[in-house]
Amino acid sequence: MEELQSGFIYLDHAATTKPSDSVIQAVASCMTECYGNPSSLHGLGLQAQLRMEHTRKIIANSMGIAPETILFTSGATESNNLAIRGASCTYGRRKKHIITSAVEHASVRNTIRALEEQGYTVTRIVPDENGQFRAQDFIDAVTDQTFLISIMLVENETGRILPVGEVFRKIKKKYPDIITHCDAVQAYMKIPVKISTLQADLLSISAHKIHGIKGAGALYIRKGVRLTPIMTGGSQEKSLRPGTESVPLIAGFGQAVTEMQNSIETRFQKAIANKNYLLNLLAELPDIIINSDDADPESSKNSPYILNFSVKQIRSEIMLHYLESRHIYVSSGSACSKGAKSGVLSAYRIPDQLADCAIRVSFSEQTTEQELLALVQAIRDGHANLIHKK
Ligand code: PMP
Repeated sequence: MEELQSGFIYLDHAATTKPSDSVIQAVASCMTECYGNPSSLHGLGLQAQLRMEHTRKIIANSMGIAPETILFTSGATESNNLAIRGASCTYGRRKKHIITSAVEHASVRNTIRALEEQGYTVTRIVPDENGQFRAQDFIDAVTDQTFLISIMLVENETGRILPVGEVFRKIKKKYPDIITHCDAVQAYMKIPVKISTLQADLLSISAHKIHGIKGAGALYIRKGVRLTPIMTGGSQEKSLRPGTESVPLIAGFGQAVTEMQNSIETRFQKAIANKNYLLNLLAELPDIIINSDDADPESSKNSPYILNFSVKQIRSEIMLHYLESRHIYVSSGSACSKGAKSGVLSAYRIPDQLADCAIRVSFSEQTTEQELLALVQAIRDGHANLIHKK
């Protein structure tokens, strides 16, 4: 089969992506030719620093901001920790209230939970009965104690798009002192991410979701926002992220953005076509319940890169392993890390019996219709085989 030439079908791009050839080349050339420490005062150090500053400019341009507002980190988990903990140390001394959504990634969810255990109060906004977030619910939650609001742009399990821009714009207009943070990991390079539209003070992104390498990320910090460092060490990254920067991974990040930034719209259209194709195929199968918001794949309420559905009565991990036996890699739709339930699907009021059977398929621009057809054939066979074994 043509789609199995690589040996498998990879449909788990929300978990991570394959580094592109040009990213690997950029990383390798940096490691061989440009291995100086960017803090060193000699030529090799300067060369490394220039490579890093080049990526800073590329990322800043992609979001319409100044390069000095971009800080390099080891990934979005670190960016989210630095944003939330760093803002809490600075701005959460007198005020103690944080607003967030009920569907955040563990790196935001557990960071905010840790702060709650230290005495902060937290309001977690849940979706409405249609599985959508209402901007007004976030705004109504503001109290005179609120100092921070953290909302993700594209939720990583079902692909719903949260109304971050609308919420942050309204909050900033009425309460300019509240710090706004956005986890934009699943949005960056997939839908437009412009700081001026979002009105984010802080925004997290990660390289490995866009064909870069694991271990590189960035945090946008609006000029004038003062974060307290969460690590102590040298003066790298304005002392906010001490430690020698991973210049090769950062160079790869820059290359990934360069490659992707001019094709956001065409890739978006391809993802819509793929998602529609998959939805139509799934509609032919029995016992499939769509957990993503599929009402209109072209609507601004859902990312076309992610489709979450349940195969009734077949638990996620059973189907996952069946698909794996057919060399198809997807993700279990309700788990965040290795089977631990994240609670995101239950926030959308998806019953536990269905959440336990959820599968997440996530596309890249390279996903083909043949791959999706092979997936659906495998699900159909899996369903027929496994349901009898129950
Ligand atoms: N936020 C979201 C929405 C994510 O999907 C992920 C990756 N699963 C992260 C944060 C964490 O990113 P990283 O792997 O770079 O730490």
